[in-house]
Amino acid sequence: MNPWIAKAVVVAGTVVMMAIRAPHGRRSRRVKVAKSRKTPLETGLLVLAWVGFFVPLIWVVSPAFSFAEYPLRPGPLVAGLMCFVIGLWLFYRSHADLGTNWSISLEIREEHRLITDGVYRGIRHPMYSALLLYSVGQALVIPNWVAGLSNVVAFAVLFALRVGAEERMMAEQFGDDYAAYSARTKRLVPGVW
Ligand code: SAH
Repeated sequence: MNPWIAKAVVVAGTVVMMAIRAPHGRRSRRVKVAKSRKTPLETGLLVLAWVGFFVPLIWVVSPAFSFAEYPLRPGPLVAGLMCFVIGLWLFYRSHADLGTNWSISLEIREEHRLITDGVYRGIRHPMYSALLLYSVGQALVIPNWVAGLSNVVAFAVLFALRVGAEERMMAEQFGDDYAAYSARTKRLVPGVW
């Protein structure tokens, strides 16, 4: 199959993702940060996430990763498209439910509320589940070992090194409420983990 189909899907997914995030980013930036846990490790993880996000776009516009190309097949393309659609829906819903409590980094905003409803009812990290689905979708859709895996590797490192610190910050801020919320929810996959 022509890799231009995969390129069109990657560009469309990126545009939708940025369009979902942009208004929420603007809105939450207006609310002051009360506490920040932005350590040098956090900054490094954010840089890694941006690199993982941009490598597929470099693949779209340049032959830089042509050495790692393989043929595009319909099965992975369709499976990847399904991951994209579910991932982008969950990304949209988690932004809508978090509202101005969202931050790109580990931060507590003024009048921060603990969200336990909507897509946060069964799992504590639906936005990370969404980003995982999106990056697995890219791995399936992009017929290139470097560009396909960049986001999934960056996300796995970000998640592994961030989630503990994020949950500690939330537990410190919300005490028993967060303990009770943690006890009745899973991290990424409802009912599983
Ligand atoms: N880990 C969550 C949120 C990612 S955004 C998810 O995957 O859906 C990261 C910021 O969201 C953190 O800095 C924290 O301030 C905030 N946050 C995380 N979980 C939250 C919750 N249940 N309610 C309110 N804010 C939350």
